[in-house]
Amino acid sequence: MPQIVVSKFGGTSMGDAICMLRSAEVVQKQNSSLVVVSATSGTTNDLIALGKLAQAKSWIETEVVLSKIRGRHIKIAEDLKLSPALRESLNVLFNEMESIAKGVHLLRDCSIKAMDTLMSLGERMSSVLFVEALSQVFKNHRLEKVACLFDVREVLRTDEAFGKARPLTEEIIKLCHQKITPLISSNQSVLVTQGFIGMTEDGMTTTLGRGGSDYSAAILAEGIGANILEIWTDVAGIATTDPRLCPAAKPLDEISFKETSELATFGAKVLHPATLLPAIRKNIPVFVGSSFDAEAKGTWVRKEVRAQPLIRALALRKRQVLVTLTTPEMLHAHGFLYQIFKVFNDHKVSIDAITTSEISISVTLDDSALLNKKLIADLSEIADVHVEDNLALVSLIGNNINHTPGLSKRIFETISDINVRMICLGASKHNFCFVVNEDQGVMAIQRLHAKFIEEQGPEA
Ligand code: ADP
Ligand code: ASP
Ligand code: MG
Repeated sequence: MPQIVVSKFGGTSMGDAICMLRSAEVVQKQNSSLVVVSATSGTTNDLIALGKLAQAKSWIETEVVLSKIRGRHIKIAEDLKLSPALRESLNVLFNEMESIAKGVHLLRDCSIKAMDTLMSLGERMSSVLFVEALSQVFKNHRLEKVACLFDVREVLRTDEAFGKARPLTEEIIKLCHQKITPLISSNQSVLVTQGFIGMTEDGMTTTLGRGGSDYSAAILAEGIGANILEIWTDVAGIATTDPRLCPAAKPLDEISFKETSELATFGAKVLHPATLLPAIRKNIPVFVGSSFDAEAKGTWVRKEVRAQPLIRALALRKRQVLVTLTTPEMLHAHGFLYQIFKVFNDHKVSIDAITTSEISISVTLDDSALLNKKLIADLSEIADVHVEDNLALVSLIGNNINHTPGLSKRIFETISDINVRMICLGASKHNFCFVVNEDQGVMAIQRLHAKFIEEQGPEA
Protein backbone atom coordinates (compact mmCIF):
# COMPACT_ATOMS: atom_id res chain seq x y z
CA MET A 1 0.00 0.00 0.00
CA PRO A 2 1.65 3.32 -1.05
CA GLN A 3 1.96 6.14 1.46
CA ILE A 4 -1.01 8.49 1.59
CA VAL A 5 0.23 12.05 1.19
CA VAL A 6 -1.84 15.20 1.73
CA SER A 7 -0.25 18.32 0.22
CA LYS A 8 -1.37 21.86 1.00
CA PHE A 9 -0.43 24.90 -1.07
CA GLY A 10 -0.73 28.43 0.33
CA GLY A 11 -1.76 31.62 -1.45
CA THR A 12 1.65 32.51 -2.89
CA SER A 13 2.02 28.97 -4.25
CA MET A 14 -1.23 29.68 -6.12
CA GLY A 15 -0.29 33.25 -7.14
CA ASP A 16 -0.47 32.88 -10.93
CA ALA A 17 -0.46 30.24 -13.67
CA ILE A 18 3.30 29.67 -13.37
CA CYS A 19 3.05 29.21 -9.58
CA MET A 20 0.13 26.81 -10.04
CA LEU A 21 1.99 24.72 -12.63
CA ARG A 22 5.06 24.65 -10.37
CA SER A 23 2.92 23.52 -7.43
CA ALA A 24 1.24 20.91 -9.63
CA GLU A 25 4.70 19.51 -10.48
CA VAL A 26 5.27 19.12 -6.73
CA VAL A 27 2.00 17.16 -6.40
CA GLN A 28 3.10 14.86 -9.22
CA LYS A 29 6.57 14.35 -7.76
CA GLN A 30 5.29 13.70 -4.24
CA ASN A 31 2.61 11.32 -5.48
CA SER A 32 0.01 13.14 -3.37
CA SER A 33 -3.50 11.76 -3.06
CA LEU A 34 -5.24 14.85 -1.76
CA VAL A 35 -4.33 18.44 -2.55
CA VAL A 36 -5.63 21.27 -0.37
CA VAL A 37 -5.38 24.76 -1.80
CA SER A 38 -5.67 28.28 -0.45
CA ALA A 39 -7.20 31.19 -2.32
CA THR A 40 -4.87 32.90 -4.80
CA SER A 41 -2.58 35.41 -3.11
CA GLY A 42 -4.47 38.51 -1.93
CA THR A 43 -7.93 37.18 -2.81
CA THR A 44 -9.22 36.58 0.73
CA ASN A 45 -8.32 40.16 1.66
CA ASP A 46 -10.05 41.41 -1.50
CA LEU A 47 -13.18 39.38 -0.72
CA ILE A 48 -13.33 40.89 2.76
CA ALA A 49 -12.93 44.36 1.23
CA LEU A 50 -15.67 43.47 -1.25
CA GLY A 51 -18.11 42.61 1.55
CA LYS A 52 -17.30 45.78 3.45
CA LEU A 53 -17.58 48.02 0.40
CA ALA A 54 -20.85 46.41 -0.68
CA GLN A 55 -22.24 47.10 2.77
CA ALA A 56 -21.05 50.67 3.22
CA LYS A 57 -20.16 52.22 -0.14
CA SER A 58 -21.60 52.76 -3.62
CA TRP A 59 -22.10 49.94 -6.11
CA ILE A 60 -19.52 51.61 -8.41
CA GLU A 61 -16.85 51.32 -5.70
CA THR A 62 -17.92 47.74 -4.98
CA GLU A 63 -17.66 46.81 -8.65
CA VAL A 64 -14.02 47.92 -8.79
CA VAL A 65 -13.04 45.18 -6.33
CA LEU A 66 -15.41 42.71 -7.94
CA SER A 67 -13.71 43.12 -11.29
CA LYS A 68 -10.25 43.06 -9.69
CA ILE A 69 -10.98 39.63 -8.21
CA ARG A 70 -12.63 38.39 -11.39
CA GLY A 71 -9.75 39.77 -13.51
CA ARG A 72 -7.09 38.00 -11.45
CA HIS A 73 -8.81 34.65 -11.95
CA ILE A 74 -9.59 35.23 -15.62
CA LYS A 75 -5.91 35.99 -16.27
CA ILE A 76 -4.86 32.67 -14.70
CA ALA A 77 -7.67 30.87 -16.58
CA GLU A 78 -6.44 32.32 -19.88
CA ASP A 79 -2.79 31.59 -19.16
CA LEU A 80 -3.68 27.99 -18.33
CA LYS A 81 -6.09 27.72 -21.28
CA LEU A 82 -8.79 26.47 -18.97
CA SER A 83 -11.02 23.71 -20.36
CA PRO A 84 -14.61 24.77 -21.23
CA ALA A 85 -16.09 22.67 -18.39
CA LEU A 86 -13.85 24.26 -15.77
CA ARG A 87 -14.42 27.68 -17.31
CA GLU A 88 -18.14 27.12 -16.79
CA SER A 89 -17.52 26.16 -13.12
CA LEU A 90 -15.53 29.37 -12.68
CA ASN A 91 -18.32 31.45 -14.23
CA VAL A 92 -20.83 29.93 -11.82
CA LEU A 93 -18.60 31.09 -8.94
CA PHE A 94 -18.22 34.58 -10.46
CA ASN A 95 -22.01 34.83 -10.65
CA GLU A 96 -22.35 33.71 -7.03
CA MET A 97 -19.80 36.33 -5.96
CA GLU A 98 -21.69 39.09 -7.77
CA SER A 99 -25.06 37.94 -6.41
CA ILE A 100 -23.81 37.94 -2.81
CA ALA A 101 -22.21 41.36 -3.26
CA LYS A 102 -25.51 42.69 -4.70
CA GLY A 103 -27.49 41.15 -1.85
CA VAL A 104 -25.18 42.68 0.74
CA HIS A 105 -25.38 46.04 -1.04
CA LEU A 106 -29.19 46.02 -1.21
CA LEU A 107 -29.56 45.09 2.44
CA ARG A 108 -26.57 47.18 3.52
CA ASP A 109 -25.71 44.28 5.77
CA CYS A 110 -22.71 41.99 5.49
CA SER A 111 -23.39 39.56 8.30
CA ILE A 112 -20.63 37.25 9.48
CA LYS A 113 -22.55 34.42 7.77
CA ALA A 114 -22.60 36.27 4.45
CA MET A 115 -18.91 37.11 4.87
CA ASP A 116 -18.04 33.43 5.31
CA THR A 117 -19.81 32.45 2.08
CA LEU A 118 -18.15 35.37 0.30
CA MET A 119 -14.70 34.41 1.60
CA SER A 120 -15.23 30.75 0.67
CA LEU A 121 -15.23 31.80 -2.99
CA GLY A 122 -11.48 32.42 -2.86
CA GLU A 123 -10.63 28.76 -2.24
CA ARG A 124 -13.49 27.55 -4.44
CA MET A 125 -12.17 29.57 -7.41
CA SER A 126 -8.51 28.68 -6.94
CA SER A 127 -9.30 24.96 -6.67
CA VAL A 128 -11.04 25.02 -10.05
CA LEU A 129 -7.94 26.59 -11.63
CA PHE A 130 -5.62 24.15 -9.90
CA VAL A 131 -7.48 21.15 -11.35
CA GLU A 132 -6.50 22.45 -14.78
CA ALA A 133 -2.85 22.97 -13.80
CA LEU A 134 -2.62 19.48 -12.33
CA SER A 135 -4.34 17.85 -15.32
CA GLN A 136 -1.79 19.47 -17.62
CA VAL A 137 1.14 18.27 -15.52
CA PHE A 138 -0.21 14.71 -15.49
CA LYS A 139 -0.63 14.90 -19.27
CA ASN A 140 2.90 16.25 -19.78
CA HIS A 141 4.29 13.37 -17.73
CA ARG A 142 2.13 10.93 -19.73
CA LEU A 143 0.45 9.71 -16.56
CA GLU A 144 -2.97 8.07 -16.52
CA LYS A 145 -3.88 9.96 -13.35
CA VAL A 146 -6.91 12.25 -13.22
CA ALA A 147 -7.20 15.49 -11.23
CA CYS A 148 -10.71 15.79 -9.74
CA LEU A 149 -12.36 18.72 -8.01
CA PHE A 150 -13.78 17.80 -4.60
CA ASP A 151 -15.96 20.16 -2.57
CA VAL A 152 -14.48 19.96 0.93
CA ARG A 153 -17.82 21.02 2.44
CA GLU A 154 -19.04 17.47 1.80
CA VAL A 155 -16.75 16.27 4.59
CA LEU A 156 -15.51 19.21 6.64
CA ARG A 157 -18.36 19.56 9.15
CA THR A 158 -18.09 22.44 11.59
CA ASP A 159 -20.10 24.09 14.31
CA GLU A 160 -21.89 27.37 13.66
CA ALA A 161 -19.20 29.74 14.94
CA PHE A 162 -19.06 31.66 11.65
CA GLY A 163 -15.71 33.35 11.06
CA LYS A 164 -13.86 30.86 13.24
CA ALA A 165 -15.76 27.62 13.07
CA ARG A 166 -14.64 24.52 14.97
CA PRO A 167 -14.30 21.30 13.01
CA LEU A 168 -16.36 18.37 14.30
CA THR A 169 -13.64 15.74 14.25
CA GLU A 170 -15.58 12.51 14.66
CA GLU A 171 -18.09 13.45 12.00
CA ILE A 172 -15.29 14.52 9.65
CA ILE A 173 -13.40 11.24 10.03
CA LYS A 174 -16.61 9.31 9.25
CA LEU A 175 -17.36 11.43 6.19
CA CYS A 176 -13.77 11.25 4.92
CA HIS A 177 -13.88 7.45 5.04
CA GLN A 178 -17.22 7.43 3.24
CA LYS A 179 -16.53 10.04 0.60
CA ILE A 180 -12.78 10.50 0.06
CA THR A 181 -11.15 7.14 0.76
CA PRO A 182 -13.00 5.26 -2.04
CA LEU A 183 -12.02 7.96 -4.55
CA ILE A 184 -8.29 7.88 -3.80
CA SER A 185 -7.80 4.20 -3.05
CA SER A 186 -6.84 3.22 -6.62
CA ASN A 187 -4.17 5.98 -6.70
CA GLN A 188 -5.55 6.97 -10.14
CA SER A 189 -7.50 10.03 -9.01
CA VAL A 190 -5.92 12.94 -7.20
CA LEU A 191 -8.47 15.12 -5.43
CA VAL A 192 -8.08 18.88 -5.39
CA THR A 193 -10.01 20.51 -2.59
CA GLN A 194 -10.36 23.77 -0.67
CA GLY A 195 -8.66 24.76 2.54
CA PHE A 196 -10.14 27.22 5.05
CA ILE A 197 -13.82 26.41 4.49
CA GLY A 198 -16.35 24.02 5.95
CA MET A 199 -20.07 23.49 6.34
CA THR A 200 -22.51 23.24 9.22
CA GLU A 201 -24.90 20.33 9.70
CA ASP A 202 -27.65 22.34 7.97
CA GLY A 203 -25.61 23.34 4.96
CA MET A 204 -24.28 26.80 5.85
CA THR A 205 -20.76 27.59 4.63
CA THR A 206 -18.26 28.45 7.37
CA THR A 207 -14.57 29.40 7.58
CA LEU A 208 -11.96 28.26 10.09
CA GLY A 209 -10.30 31.66 10.66
CA ARG A 210 -7.55 33.45 8.73
CA GLY A 211 -4.69 31.23 7.62
CA GLY A 212 -6.91 28.20 8.28
CA SER A 213 -5.98 26.17 5.20
CA ASP A 214 -3.07 24.56 7.05
CA TYR A 215 -5.54 23.42 9.69
CA SER A 216 -7.95 22.10 7.03
CA ALA A 217 -5.16 20.03 5.48
CA ALA A 218 -4.24 18.56 8.86
CA ILE A 219 -7.88 17.71 9.64
CA LEU A 220 -8.25 16.00 6.28
CA ALA A 221 -4.95 14.14 6.78
CA GLU A 222 -6.37 12.82 10.03
CA GLY A 223 -9.70 12.07 8.34
CA ILE A 224 -8.24 9.88 5.59
CA GLY A 225 -5.50 8.35 7.77
CA ALA A 226 -2.65 9.97 5.80
CA ASN A 227 0.97 8.99 6.42
CA ILE A 228 2.40 12.42 5.64
CA LEU A 229 1.09 15.99 5.66
CA GLU A 230 2.98 18.44 3.48
CA ILE A 231 2.65 22.21 3.82
CA TRP A 232 4.07 23.94 0.74
CA THR A 233 4.61 27.67 1.14
CA ASP A 234 6.94 30.49 0.05
CA VAL A 235 9.84 29.67 2.41
CA ALA A 236 11.99 26.54 2.48
CA GLY A 237 10.72 25.27 5.82
CA ILE A 238 10.31 26.51 9.37
CA ALA A 239 13.19 28.85 10.13
CA THR A 240 14.91 29.86 13.36
CA THR A 241 12.71 32.97 13.18
CA ASP A 242 10.62 34.75 10.56
CA PRO A 243 13.10 35.47 7.71
CA ARG A 244 11.24 38.74 7.13
CA LEU A 245 12.29 39.92 10.60
CA CYS A 246 15.80 38.62 10.59
CA PRO A 247 17.72 37.92 7.37
CA ALA A 248 20.08 35.57 9.23
CA ALA A 249 17.20 33.16 9.97
CA LYS A 250 17.96 29.62 8.79
CA PRO A 251 15.56 26.80 7.95
CA LEU A 252 15.50 23.99 10.51
CA ASP A 253 15.93 20.37 9.46
CA GLU A 254 13.55 19.19 12.15
CA ILE A 255 11.50 20.42 15.09
CA SER A 256 9.18 18.65 17.52
CA PHE A 257 5.40 18.88 17.57
CA LYS A 258 5.52 20.61 20.95
CA GLU A 259 8.03 23.26 19.92
CA THR A 260 6.15 23.90 16.68
CA SER A 261 2.84 24.32 18.54
CA GLU A 262 4.48 26.98 20.72
CA LEU A 263 6.08 28.66 17.72
CA ALA A 264 2.82 28.81 15.77
CA THR A 265 0.76 29.97 18.76
CA PHE A 266 3.28 32.66 19.63
CA GLY A 267 3.32 34.27 16.21
CA ALA A 268 5.08 32.23 13.49
CA LYS A 269 2.67 32.65 10.61
CA VAL A 270 4.23 29.78 8.69
CA LEU A 271 1.69 27.39 10.27
CA HIS A 272 -1.81 28.07 11.57
CA PRO A 273 -1.65 27.43 15.35
CA ALA A 274 -4.21 24.61 15.26
CA THR A 275 -2.45 22.65 12.49
CA LEU A 276 -0.56 20.46 14.88
CA LEU A 277 -3.64 19.27 16.80
CA PRO A 278 -4.73 16.59 14.31
CA ALA A 279 -1.10 15.74 13.48
CA ILE A 280 -0.35 15.13 17.17
CA ARG A 281 -3.56 13.13 17.66
CA LYS A 282 -2.66 10.74 14.84
CA ASN A 283 1.14 11.14 14.98
CA ILE A 284 1.34 12.28 11.35
CA PRO A 285 4.74 13.76 10.43
CA VAL A 286 4.44 17.20 8.84
CA PHE A 287 6.81 18.44 6.14
CA VAL A 288 7.11 22.19 5.50
CA GLY A 289 8.77 23.18 2.22
CA SER A 290 8.87 25.78 -0.51
CA SER A 291 6.82 25.19 -3.66
CA PHE A 292 9.21 27.67 -5.32
CA ASP A 293 12.21 25.46 -4.51
CA ALA A 294 10.93 21.95 -3.97
CA GLU A 295 14.47 20.55 -3.98
CA ALA A 296 15.43 22.54 -0.87
CA LYS A 297 15.63 20.45 2.26
CA GLY A 298 12.59 21.80 4.14
CA THR A 299 11.63 21.02 7.74
CA TRP A 300 10.21 17.86 9.28
CA VAL A 301 7.91 18.32 12.26
CA ARG A 302 7.73 15.11 14.26
CA LYS A 303 6.87 13.77 17.69
CA GLU A 304 10.48 12.68 18.31
CA VAL A 305 13.47 14.62 17.02
CA ARG A 306 17.20 13.96 17.36
CA ALA A 307 18.55 17.20 18.82
CA GLN A 308 17.02 19.03 21.81
CA PRO A 309 18.62 22.49 21.63
CA LEU A 310 17.96 24.88 24.49
CA ILE A 311 16.77 27.55 22.05
CA ARG A 312 15.63 26.33 18.64
CA ALA A 313 13.64 29.30 17.35
CA LEU A 314 12.18 32.72 18.15
CA ALA A 315 8.76 34.17 17.47
CA LEU A 316 7.23 37.61 17.58
CA ARG A 317 3.55 38.20 18.09
CA LYS A 318 2.64 41.79 17.31
CA ARG A 319 -0.47 43.85 18.09
CA GLN A 320 -0.72 42.71 21.70
CA VAL A 321 -2.42 44.45 24.60
CA LEU A 322 -1.77 43.92 28.28
CA VAL A 323 -4.90 44.01 30.40
CA THR A 324 -4.28 44.42 34.14
CA LEU A 325 -7.14 43.73 36.53
CA THR A 326 -6.81 44.89 40.11
CA THR A 327 -9.06 44.46 43.11
CA PRO A 328 -8.30 44.52 46.83
CA GLU A 329 -11.01 41.89 47.19
CA MET A 330 -8.48 39.40 45.89
CA LEU A 331 -6.57 39.69 49.20
CA HIS A 332 -6.84 36.33 50.94
CA ALA A 333 -9.92 35.51 48.89
CA HIS A 334 -10.63 32.77 46.43
CA GLY A 335 -12.64 32.66 43.22
CA PHE A 336 -11.27 35.87 41.71
CA LEU A 337 -9.36 34.12 38.93
CA TYR A 338 -12.41 31.97 38.22
CA GLN A 339 -14.56 35.06 37.74
CA ILE A 340 -12.00 36.69 35.45
CA PHE A 341 -11.50 33.62 33.28
CA LYS A 342 -15.24 33.10 33.06
CA VAL A 343 -15.62 36.54 31.46
CA PHE A 344 -12.90 35.75 28.90
CA ASN A 345 -14.50 32.39 28.27
CA ASP A 346 -17.97 33.91 27.81
CA HIS A 347 -16.52 36.27 25.21
CA LYS A 348 -14.49 33.47 23.56
CA VAL A 349 -11.29 35.51 23.97
CA SER A 350 -8.06 33.59 24.20
CA ILE A 351 -5.30 34.65 26.60
CA ASP A 352 -1.65 33.99 25.79
CA ALA A 353 0.48 35.00 28.78
CA ILE A 354 -0.49 35.61 32.41
CA THR A 355 1.13 36.92 35.60
CA THR A 356 -0.45 37.51 38.97
CA SER A 357 0.25 39.34 42.22
CA GLU A 358 -1.75 39.31 45.44
CA ILE A 359 -4.35 41.77 44.21
CA SER A 360 -3.91 41.87 40.46
CA ILE A 361 -3.59 39.81 37.33
CA SER A 362 -2.15 40.82 33.95
CA VAL A 363 -2.98 38.99 30.74
CA THR A 364 -1.95 39.50 27.13
CA LEU A 365 -4.51 39.49 24.34
CA ASP A 366 -4.55 40.20 20.62
CA ASP A 367 -5.56 43.85 20.28
CA SER A 368 -8.56 42.80 18.17
CA ALA A 369 -10.16 41.51 21.41
CA LEU A 370 -10.68 45.14 22.45
CA LEU A 371 -13.07 45.71 19.57
CA ASN A 372 -15.49 43.90 21.87
CA LYS A 373 -16.44 46.75 24.20
CA LYS A 374 -18.65 44.49 26.28
CA LEU A 375 -15.57 42.47 27.30
CA ILE A 376 -14.01 45.44 29.09
CA ALA A 377 -17.38 46.45 30.54
CA ASP A 378 -17.88 42.96 31.98
CA LEU A 379 -14.34 42.87 33.40
CA SER A 380 -14.87 46.30 34.96
CA GLU A 381 -17.71 44.87 37.03
CA ILE A 382 -15.21 42.63 38.81
CA ALA A 383 -12.03 44.73 39.00
CA ASP A 384 -10.31 47.96 37.98
CA VAL A 385 -9.21 47.49 34.40
CA HIS A 386 -6.06 49.02 32.95
CA VAL A 387 -5.21 48.48 29.29
CA GLU A 388 -1.79 49.06 27.69
CA ASP A 389 -1.50 48.75 23.92
CA ASN A 390 1.16 48.78 21.18
CA LEU A 391 2.93 45.79 22.67
CA ALA A 392 4.54 42.66 21.25
CA LEU A 393 5.18 39.24 22.69
CA VAL A 394 8.72 37.91 22.16
CA SER A 395 9.12 34.13 22.59
CA LEU A 396 12.13 31.86 22.77
CA ILE A 397 11.24 28.29 21.92
CA GLY A 398 13.34 25.26 22.69
CA ASN A 399 13.86 22.55 25.31
CA ASN A 400 14.40 22.37 29.03
CA ILE A 401 13.98 26.13 29.21
CA ASN A 402 12.56 26.17 32.75
CA HIS A 403 15.37 24.02 34.16
CA THR A 404 18.44 25.78 32.77
CA PRO A 405 20.39 27.96 35.21
CA GLY A 406 21.56 31.32 33.86
CA LEU A 407 19.24 31.42 30.85
CA SER A 408 17.23 34.44 32.05
CA LYS A 409 20.43 36.33 32.77
CA ARG A 410 21.72 35.72 29.23
CA ILE A 411 18.40 36.71 27.70
CA PHE A 412 18.02 39.96 29.59
CA GLU A 413 21.68 40.94 29.25
CA THR A 414 21.15 40.81 25.49
CA ILE A 415 18.28 43.29 25.62
CA SER A 416 19.24 45.23 28.76
CA ASP A 417 18.23 48.56 27.21
CA ILE A 418 14.72 47.38 26.31
CA ASN A 419 11.98 47.68 28.87
CA VAL A 420 10.39 44.33 29.58
CA ARG A 421 6.81 44.92 30.62
CA MET A 422 5.92 41.37 31.65
CA ILE A 423 7.59 37.95 31.76
CA CYS A 424 6.15 34.48 31.51
CA LEU A 425 8.34 31.53 32.43
CA GLY A 426 7.71 28.26 34.13
CA ALA A 427 4.59 26.80 32.64
CA SER A 428 6.35 25.17 29.71
CA LYS A 429 9.80 23.73 29.26
CA HIS A 430 9.52 24.76 25.63
CA ASN A 431 8.74 28.47 25.92
CA PHE A 432 10.02 31.63 27.56
CA CYS A 433 8.10 34.74 26.58
CA PHE A 434 7.98 38.38 27.54
CA VAL A 435 6.24 41.57 26.49
CA VAL A 436 7.97 44.66 25.06
CA ASN A 437 6.86 47.80 23.24
CA GLU A 438 5.87 46.85 19.74
CA ASP A 439 8.44 49.15 18.13
CA GLN A 440 11.25 47.29 19.96
CA GLY A 441 10.02 43.78 19.15
CA VAL A 442 12.00 43.26 15.95
CA MET A 443 15.18 44.59 17.57
CA ALA A 444 14.73 42.17 20.48
CA ILE A 445 14.27 39.25 18.08
CA GLN A 446 17.34 40.20 16.03
CA ARG A 447 19.57 40.53 19.09
CA LEU A 448 18.35 37.30 20.65
CA HIS A 449 18.72 35.52 17.33
CA ALA A 450 22.33 36.72 17.07
CA LYS A 451 23.04 35.57 20.63
CA PHE A 452 21.20 32.27 20.88
CA ILE A 453 21.13 31.01 17.29
CA GLU A 454 23.88 32.62 15.24
CA GLU A 455 26.52 32.31 17.98
CA GLN A 456 25.55 28.71 18.75
CA GLY A 457 24.60 27.59 15.24
CA PRO A 458 21.05 26.35 14.57
CA GLU A 459 20.04 23.12 16.30
CA ALA A 460 23.16 23.34 18.48
P1 ADP B 1 0.96 30.53 2.93
O1 ADP B 1 0.26 31.54 2.10
O2 ADP B 1 1.76 29.55 2.13
O3 ADP B 1 0.08 29.87 3.94
P2 ADP B 1 2.01 32.29 4.98
O4 ADP B 1 2.28 33.68 4.51
O5 ADP B 1 0.77 32.05 5.77
O6 ADP B 1 2.08 31.34 3.71
O7 ADP B 1 3.26 31.75 5.84
C1 ADP B 1 4.56 31.83 5.30
C2 ADP B 1 5.28 33.00 5.92
O8 ADP B 1 5.44 32.77 7.33
C3 ADP B 1 6.70 33.20 5.44
O9 ADP B 1 6.75 33.96 4.26
C4 ADP B 1 7.37 33.89 6.62
O10 ADP B 1 7.50 35.28 6.44
C5 ADP B 1 6.43 33.65 7.79
N1 ADP B 1 7.10 33.08 8.96
C6 ADP B 1 6.93 33.50 10.24
N2 ADP B 1 7.71 32.83 11.08
C7 ADP B 1 8.40 31.93 10.35
C8 ADP B 1 9.36 30.92 10.67
N3 ADP B 1 9.78 30.69 11.91
N4 ADP B 1 9.85 30.19 9.64
C9 ADP B 1 9.44 30.39 8.39
N5 ADP B 1 8.54 31.33 8.02
C10 ADP B 1 8.01 32.09 8.98
N1 ASP C 1 -7.26 32.10 2.26
C1 ASP C 1 -7.35 32.10 3.69
C2 ASP C 1 -6.62 33.33 4.26
O1 ASP C 1 -6.03 34.09 3.51
C3 ASP C 1 -6.85 30.83 4.31
C4 ASP C 1 -5.38 30.50 4.06
O2 ASP C 1 -4.77 31.00 3.11
O3 ASP C 1 -4.86 29.68 4.81
O4 ASP C 1 -6.66 33.55 5.43
MG1 MG D 1 -0.63 30.49 5.86
